[in-house]
Amino acid sequence: MVSIVEQMARSMEAHGLHDCANDLRSQKKSIYKRPIAKPKKTKKRKKKKNLPANNKSKSFYKSVEWRRLRYDALVKHGGSCLACGRSAKDGVIMNVDHIKPRAKYPELAMDLNNLQVLCGGCNQGKGNRDETDWR
Ligand SMILES: [Zn+2]
Repeated sequence: MVSIVEQMARSMEAHGLHDCANDLRSQKKSIYKRPIAKPKKTKKRKKKKNLPANNKSKSFYKSVEWRRLRYDALVKHGGSCLACGRSAKDGVIMNVDHIKPRAKYPELAMDLNNLQVLCGGCNQGKGNRDETDWR
């Protein structure tokens, strides 16, 4: 007489389920393999790591002290770009630029004598690599 277990094994074989236990194991493995898409998470972490520096910079430019000083610089130099002469009327965004970059000369960050008015484009072109005084 054929046992129930044997019958089950045969029917499983017939359905290609002979290695049922192994199938389950490999399924588990494949489930474990899926989270290997973790590099995406590390990329996100990298972005988060960059945030503190940006926040620092943003908080500087949001400070009342800076906005007062920035305004003083605009009063002193006028609202036109000292390099190209464009102004907000020409549709450009005006920047008050640190002639000697804040990154290199943090002690001059709040010095009115270190500030000049540039349009966004000129300021972006200047970046931290040039210290031309356009006044
Ligand atoms: Zn300009």
